[in-house]
Amino acid sequence: MKRMGWIGLVPLVLGSLLGVEPPQRSPKVAGIVGEISAENLKAHVQALAAIHSRHVQSPHIQEAWEYIRKEFEKFEGLQVELDEFEVQVRLLGDQPVKLVNVVATLPGTTDPDRIYVVSGHYDSRASRANDADSRAPGAVDDASGTAAVIELARVMSRRRFEATVVFVAFSGEEVGLLGSRHWADRAREQGLNVDAMITNDIIGNSQGGGGHLSNTEMRVFSEGVPASETELQGRLRQGIGGEVDSPARQLARYVKELGEFYVPGFKIHLIYRRDRFGRGGDHTSFSQAGYPAVRFSEMYENYARQHQDVREEGGVQYGDLPESFDAQYSASIVRVNAAALASLADAPAPPSRLGIRGAVRYDTTLSWEASPTADLAGYAILVRETSAPYWQRRIPVGNVTEHVLKGTIVDNFFFAVQSVDKEGNLSRPIFPQGLRRR
Ligand SMILES: [Zn+2]
Repeated sequence: MKRMGWIGLVPLVLGSLLGVEPPQRSPKVAGIVGEISAENLKAHVQALAAIHSRHVQSPHIQEAWEYIRKEFEKFEGLQVELDEFEVQVRLLGDQPVKLVNVVATLPGTTDPDRIYVVSGHYDSRASRANDADSRAPGAVDDASGTAAVIELARVMSRRRFEATVVFVAFSGEEVGLLGSRHWADRAREQGLNVDAMITNDIIGNSQGGGGHLSNTEMRVFSEGVPASETELQGRLRQGIGGEVDSPARQLARYVKELGEFYVPGFKIHLIYRRDRFGRGGDHTSFSQAGYPAVRFSEMYENYARQHQDVREEGGVQYGDLPESFDAQYSASIVRVNAAALASLADAPAPPSRLGIRGAVRYDTTLSWEASPTADLAGYAILVRETSAPYWQRRIPVGNVTEHVLKGTIVDNFFFAVQSVDKEGNLSRPIFPQGLRRR
C-alpha cells in the first residue's frame, strides 16, 4: 500500500511524520526564476553606488530616485509613482525633510485587492547617521536590495498574476525606517490587504568579515510573537501555543520551502528573531502595521563595509564599495524572492478564521472560512511536532471547510491550513487564531 494512501486515515502519532512532499512545479514560476540576471543587478548597484551620497539630506539623493523611476518606467504594465512626504525627526535637525519612496505596481488580474510587497531601501549613510556630506556609496546596504527590486519588476512585469505585486524602493531606512513606516501606516489606514511583505536589505557580500565566506546560503528573519498582537490575541496564544507561529513565521517557512525548491543547492536559514541582534529594517514597519513581513539578508555581513566612511585605515579598506558586491551570489537571493513572490501572487488567498478544537478528546478538528479565490481546488493541512522548526506533513483534504484528524491528540502537534488551486499553487499557511467550540 502506498504511504500517501493511508496517511490521514491513521492517527498521527509522535515520530510518524516523515517530511513534506515537494510542491507541484509551476513552469511559470520556474521561468521567472530563470530570467533573473546577475549582470543587471551589477549594473544597478554600480549606478547607485556611483552617486556621491544617497543620504536623505544629500542633494544627490534625487539622482537615485530618478534612476529608479526611469528603470521602472522601462517595463510595460507597471504603474510607477513617487510617494513623496515630509518628516521632521530630531536626528535630522529642525527643518522638515522631504522623502520619496519609488513605487511600481503590477495590478493583479482576478484578485487585485490582495497585495504582495517587495522592497529594498535606496538611501545610504556614512559613519554618522546625520552626515549628508560625506561619500556614502551604500553598494550592499542597500543598493543591492534596490537592484533586486528593479530586476524583479523587470522579470515579473512580463507576466500577469492573480494578485497585485508592489515593488518599492524605500527612502529613510537609515534614519529610522521612515519611508516604510509612511507606506505601511497608510496601507493600514486604507485597509489594504497586504498578504505578505519581503524586504531585501544587505544581500550582496559573499565575503563577510572575520573570515566568514558563503555564496550558497542566505538568512530570512521573522518575528515569533507578532509586533501587532493585541491583549486578547495574546491570551488566546497562551491557551493554544503559537509563540513560534506568527504570520511572519508562516511566510518565512513558505519562503524556505519554495525558495529551496526553485533554487536548488541554495540553503535558506530561517532565523527565529525579528531582525539581526539589536538592529532593524523596513519589514518591521509592516509587522507593526499588522502585516506578515520578513527580512532577507546575506549569510555573513562585513561590518568594515557597512555604515562606514570610505577610507583606508591600518591596511583595511572601509566603506560600502561596489567591489564587494558579488552579483552571482546576490542573484541567488533574488531568485528566492522571485520563487516566493510569483508563487504567492498566483496562489489562492489563504483561508481565514482558522479555529481548532480537540481538548480532552482523541480527535483534532480544524475549521476555517473558505478562500474567496475562483480557481480554488481545496485545502491542505500542515502538521509538525511542537519542537520541529518546519512543517513535517502536508495532508490534502479537498474542498471542505472542516476536517477531523481521527485519533490525533491535539496537544502533541501544531497545525496550519493553506489553500491550493487547480495548478497546485499553495497559499501562505495560516495558524489557528483561537479555539472553536461546538
Ligand atoms: Zn540597510
